[in-house]
Amino acid sequence: MKLKYIFLSLLAIVKFSACSDDDNIDTTKPEIEIVTPDDDEHFHPGDTFELRAILTDNEELASWKVDIHHNSDGHTHSQVIRLKHGGEHSHEEEEWHFHKEGSIESGTKQYVLILEIEIPHDAEHGDYHLGIYVTDKAGNENKAFITFEVEDDHHEHHD
Ligand SMILES: [Zn+2]
Repeated sequence: MKLKYIFLSLLAIVKFSACSDDDNIDTTKPEIEIVTPDDDEHFHPGDTFELRAILTDNEELASWKVDIHHNSDGHTHSQVIRLKHGGEHSHEEEEWHFHKEGSIESGTKQYVLILEIEIPHDAEHGDYHLGIYVTDKAGNENKAFITFEVEDDHHEHHD
C-alpha cells in the first residue's frame, strides 16, 4: 500500500516536471488502412500480389512489420487494442511464412507501405492471415489483420 502511494506521487512529480516543455505524452495508437489485397481475396501458388497499406500517426511513425502465416488451425486474432502481441502460434507443418519489417523515416505522420509479395509455388493451400503491425515513436502499437486464401490450381501453366 505504502509503495503504491510512493509510486503514485513519483508519477505526479514526473508529470508536473514534464509539463513545462512537453505537456502530453503521445498515447494515441497509429492507424492502419489496408488498401490491397481485399479481405478474403483468393490467390494461387506462384501469384504475386501487391500489399498496400496506409499507416497514419498523430505524432510520428516509427516502424512497421508484416507477417503472413497459414491458418490451418482456424485461429483468430483479436482486434482488441493491446500492447502485447496477439496470436501466439503453434504451427507444426512446414508452411509458407512471410515476415518483413522496416523502419520509417523520422518525422513521418503518414506512410504508404507497398510490398510485392510472391506466393511460393509450393505454398500450402488454405487460409492465410496477413497481419500488419505499426509502432509510433512513443511506442504505441497497433495491428490489423486480413485473411486470404491460396487455392489449388487445377489448370497449371508450364511456361
Ligand atoms: Zn494467425
